[in-house]
Amino acid sequence: MLDTSIILANLKTIRENINSAAIKSGRDESAVRLMAVTKTKPAETVKCLLSAGIRCFGENYPDETVEKISAFREVPDARLAMIGHLQSRKAKIVADHFDEFQSLDRLEIAEKMESLCAERNRIMPVMIECNVGDEASKSGWHFADDFIPDQFLADFEKIRKLPHLDIMGLMILPPYAEDGEINRKYFIRTRNIAAYLNQHCGAHITELSMGTSSDYTVAIEEGATIIRIGTALVGPRDYKNKA
Ligand SMILES: *Cc1c(COP(=O)(O)O)cnc(C)c1O
Repeated sequence: MLDTSIILANLKTIRENINSAAIKSGRDESAVRLMAVTKTKPAETVKCLLSAGIRCFGENYPDETVEKISAFREVPDARLAMIGHLQSRKAKIVADHFDEFQSLDRLEIAEKMESLCAERNRIMPVMIECNVGDEASKSGWHFADDFIPDQFLADFEKIRKLPHLDIMGLMILPPYAEDGEINRKYFIRTRNIAAYLNQHCGAHITELSMGTSSDYTVAIEEGATIIRIGTALVGPRDYKNKA
């Protein structure tokens, strides 16, 4: 059963935390967008979040998203972002139904998305997924330390030239840490990668999508412009519902 009052109470707490993290770091809270992560959650949860004023949504599994797509489309200015690892054979669903693609994690999927968007005559806003924790289990370009690998720069240049992709920012999913403070170094590293690309490669990266339920206040202190919150907003996920 969906308990609307719990979601509203969670939202209030999260907004208060966003506000204090912004104040603490001298940032304007309006510079931080809250994305609701609704993977495994039913359409009713999406509708509840829409009536609470949320306009930014993240989903991980294209087939599941399509099943509840009409919920996202009830409000014209709601934005739907793909944030999970995208298999090539599912890329068409993202090109057809999503407003942005945050989990661009390899050159091959960038080229695939480019050709799908060219066919559809649309531009896809994308974020480059950086594996700043250098974790074998996760996708994205690996960063073992503060050094920026040549292979990443080479791929970045190729992606920049793809006319139907528009690189908005960097996206990271650092290791899970109960104490978000432990991930501060990864948020700083991401900010530094963006600064490097802007200063030395002529890029225009304005978005840092970083911070989840366990570490979003630290991410905001280090410059996150989009935080992606699932559990703290809509409760734990039940993967038994997933095919
Ligand atoms: C599931 C997911 C989230 C949300 O994580 P919570 O810990 O539930 O807030 C954020 N980002 C990505 C990429 C995810 O897959």
